[in-house]
Amino acid sequence: MELQKRLSTCWDRFLSCFRKPEQSETDGSTVITNPHAKVSTYNPGPSNPAPPQKRGSNPAARNQYVALYDYSARTADDLSFNTGDRLETLNKDTGEWWFAKALTGISSNRTGYIPANYVAPLESIDAEPWYFPETKRQDAEKMLLAEGNDQGAFLIRNCESQKGELSLSVLDSGRVKHYKLRKLENGQYFVSRTKSFETLKELVEWYSGQADGLCARLGEPCRKMEAPTTYGLSYNTVDTWEIPRTSIKLGKKLGAGQFGEVYEGLWNDTTAVAVKTLKPGTMDAADFLREAQFMKRLRHAKLIQLYAVCTMEEPIFIITELMRHGSLLEHLQMDRGRNLGISDQIEFAAQVAAGMAYLEQQNYIHRDLAARNVLVGENNICKVADFGLARVFMKENENVYEAKEGGKFPVKWTAPEAIHDNTFSIKSDVWSFGILLYEIMTFGQTPYPAMTNYQVVQKVLEGYRMQPPPNCTKILFAIMSDCWKRDPQDRPTFETLQWKLEDYFEMDVTSYDDANRYYS
Ligand code: AMP
Repeated sequence: MELQKRLSTCWDRFLSCFRKPEQSETDGSTVITNPHAKVSTYNPGPSNPAPPQKRGSNPAARNQYVALYDYSARTADDLSFNTGDRLETLNKDTGEWWFAKALTGISSNRTGYIPANYVAPLESIDAEPWYFPETKRQDAEKMLLAEGNDQGAFLIRNCESQKGELSLSVLDSGRVKHYKLRKLENGQYFVSRTKSFETLKELVEWYSGQADGLCARLGEPCRKMEAPTTYGLSYNTVDTWEIPRTSIKLGKKLGAGQFGEVYEGLWNDTTAVAVKTLKPGTMDAADFLREAQFMKRLRHAKLIQLYAVCTMEEPIFIITELMRHGSLLEHLQMDRGRNLGISDQIEFAAQVAAGMAYLEQQNYIHRDLAARNVLVGENNICKVADFGLARVFMKENENVYEAKEGGKFPVKWTAPEAIHDNTFSIKSDVWSFGILLYEIMTFGQTPYPAMTNYQVVQKVLEGYRMQPPPNCTKILFAIMSDCWKRDPQDRPTFETLQWKLEDYFEMDVTSYDDANRYYS
């Protein structure tokens, strides 16, 4: 394993020495490539669940975990388990995949690797099936109203408006009601002061027996949506990301992009993945590999995760997580407002802003942010893809990347200072985000309709900006316009964009009315 790690590091260094070839053209939008890529030293911190809380006096319980999701073994080295199974960790110094022994369930008494983000310490609050801490009020409603939940389905989550407080959300006759869970000075929880409880578990048990003033008696915990993405495909591929081509079976073609084609694939006969292939001879292999270098280092729930590569022969394969509904652009264009409404549109925008806020924090620039480069999965989850153009800042503190002379751009998405001065920054990504908002609000229309790229370059420089699209609210158009401020420093950060969009429906009544006043 040590040797494999060293080989992998050498390979990484070798790849980082390649230089980028010339630009390429994609469906009317021209794309620039980066000649100065610097390999990130970003080391993603662990996203493990909280360490086990010491409970009672039983030391053995400290290494005991409970499964939060079902997991099907992908290799001979890992363990299958079902939600609720108990596992004992034998070694947690193995990164995001822990070595564990199953204590119950289908793998009982067997040992193997488990994804650390699929389990929570036994008897901890995180192990409770009704505890959904990071769920927002709006998402709680969506989840409880989803198929599979019956009367009384419930969850407990962090309260959005008051940090440190908890809320109880309950499904009652097709509607969701929310209750604040308050605390007495002695630390006991209550919904109504007439009855308080030492622990949340006791509170849940009490209201599962009788409604006692709630809209309904608590029933089953809300059903969980999809299991989270694992960190890499398996314990062995976390560091050794070159995998044998024979471990991949190509399935149906999903689409085609500037580098080649994208297929659905099956890794190790167990795991569904997306496989990006590089057109042999049409593009410098190092260019494609460098995209992989960047993707590999960036880990966030709203960014497409790179799992592995097959680079030993052509065509090169890049293995990423599979997103069932393809690009956001296609998704919007296919729907054209039939099923998707304003809350879905805001949710798409907020998710992209969240992914981009992470890139902003990591000092990365995407440089090709557009609806075609956002992918959609189940339950309208979307993630930012294609970091082929994302690069670390060349000059630290300047927050600007100078593009290669003669570079070409996806003109309608690119900020004027990037087109005219060849300067890219996270603020030019913010400009592109404004255009992406326009795409979202128009269900995938090409921006600046009826204008050529040339006209756009000229007119935008003179101060021309797009008019609000039909059915765009004032607040949303104000956000778009902020993204298109001439001076990059006057544009908002992605962090601000994220909270503005996430809080879109939480505004006070007056601004909410205003938010929903439409341009027609
Ligand atoms: P790209 O080469 O990234 O431009 O991708 C071309 C097309 O392939 C996209 O428009 C999507 O429809 C599809 N595609 C790309 N990556 C994925 C993925 N990870 N999961 C599902 N579909 C994808």
